[in-house]
Amino acid sequence: MNNNHYPVVVVGGGIVGAGIFRDLNLHGISSLLIDKKDFTSQTSERSSKMLHGGIRYLENLDFQLIFEALHEKNLWLKIAPELAEEKEFILPVYENSKRPLWQLAIGLFLYDLLSGFKNKPFKILSPKKTLDLEPSLNPQGLKGAGVYADAVVEDALMTLHCIFDALKHTTHSKALNYTSLVNFEKKDELYFLELKNELTNEIQNVTADHVVFALGPFTDQVLKNFNQLHWQDVLLPSKGSHLWIKKDKLPIERPLVITSHDKEDRVIFVIPHSDKVLVGTTEIKTKENFFDVKISKEEIQYLLRHLNDYFPKAEITEEDILSTFSGIRPLVREDGDNLGKTSREHKIYRPYAKTFVIAGGKYTTFRTMGQEITRTICLNYRVSYNHELSLEKFNTQFNFKPHLGDKLTDEALINILKNEYPKTFEDLAKRRLSLPTKKLWKNNEESFDQFFINRLETINLYFSCTKEEIEQYP
Ligand SMILES: Cc1cc2nc3c(=O)[nH]c(=O)nc-3n(C[C@H](O)[C@H](O)[C@H](O)COP(=O)(O)OP(=O)(O)OC[C@H]3O[C@@H](n4cnc5c(N)ncnc54)[C@H](O)[C@@H]3O)c2cc1C
Repeated sequence: MNNNHYPVVVVGGGIVGAGIFRDLNLHGISSLLIDKKDFTSQTSERSSKMLHGGIRYLENLDFQLIFEALHEKNLWLKIAPELAEEKEFILPVYENSKRPLWQLAIGLFLYDLLSGFKNKPFKILSPKKTLDLEPSLNPQGLKGAGVYADAVVEDALMTLHCIFDALKHTTHSKALNYTSLVNFEKKDELYFLELKNELTNEIQNVTADHVVFALGPFTDQVLKNFNQLHWQDVLLPSKGSHLWIKKDKLPIERPLVITSHDKEDRVIFVIPHSDKVLVGTTEIKTKENFFDVKISKEEIQYLLRHLNDYFPKAEITEEDILSTFSGIRPLVREDGDNLGKTSREHKIYRPYAKTFVIAGGKYTTFRTMGQEITRTICLNYRVSYNHELSLEKFNTQFNFKPHLGDKLTDEALINILKNEYPKTFEDLAKRRLSLPTKKLWKNNEESFDQFFINRLETINLYFSCTKEEIEQYP
């Protein structure tokens, strides 16, 4: 291997690319991971932050996917307890709900069965017990609730830790953020890739034996640029948006699942995360620029309307929104174009024997999604594939704990700057420190702005940052 040649180049540093990169490195296969933006800055930091089987997919009879996802969820709870936490989700049922309690009980039993009874067993609650648990729920017409177990995850941190864990296992591999693939050519058995540094515009040429495209919703847009691939669109992109609401305005203790009253019959998750509550999601077709998707006025109204139906006493308004975010589900197009009914299964395409394109899937199933690719690559190098390797515990030398706002020390900050590749102030605050907004900063001795401005000299040793960028952070 010379400096510009890699056995594998993985294009796309979301959870899918990061998972494949980790698995390759655990098997001793050196690789290069690149992402056009920061790692995990797209779909993989904009999910509903759940590891789950997908209670909603029971209606689509997607049993295989639910089985696999529940199995993965329960594994990650063991492997990465710092990042994934089991929670009891409450699904309230009202007089006018589409499914009565007895039907819900059958569904929840099936969900537990598909987990091999590894899930905490489901429960059915009376209206009184439901209100004892969550007094802010609307009591009118309440018939009771189902309670089942799923998990919440720090999605951005999990992806970053896959990358950092991969790098720990080899000295030859590299992970480059802000590096995009701008040209791809196959000559005989070798791939010639032109990479562009998005911050300096520098071009770098590398060669590879294998290329893995893990571009999530960007798959069609990127691959169409490379004539040699003759790529035909495979995705049905679906936009989903979320709100972060102040926890003191919506003081719930457990995640709730509320159902929409529209004909789509969607579910909306209302999930407490320390001092804020996540509310989402929506599901709509979109032609927006995927790198710049934003919540629309209609989506905000839609989410607030359902929230206020279920929690009328809270009287939540736009004033209570801390921040919002939107992402694009990389669904693989099936016969119809009904977003809700389209399967969340992934697909792998092989335009050439050593080119892999992986699309679709869910955050929860990223580990198993990529295994087929790693196994094939291992075979090409006569390395025996061991699916147990990716079940090793994560290394904890990195900053596992999110929300460091109240106890961020100089030492921790320098460690993050040195080891975790932030290249902009947003990378540092949003993804490395889990502070999507400065309103979540809790250190009483120094304000958010003061803290970072006082350390600007140190930050500038690692990437260029101005006082204005810190002040303008939302
Ligand atoms: C609203 C919403 C809610 C969701 N909730 C859940 C949930 O609760 N649980 C769950 O299991 N799943 C959930 N999902 C699904 C899950 O988030 C996605 O399946 C998963 O994050 C996709 O990861 P990815 O790596 O395929 O894509 P991405 O994370 O988008 O990664 C693709 C990467 O490719 C990079 N890229 C693009 N162009 C180039 C280029 N030219 N060169 C180099 N790199 C490039 C991008 O910058 C990006 O980082 C949700 C999805 C959405 C949208």
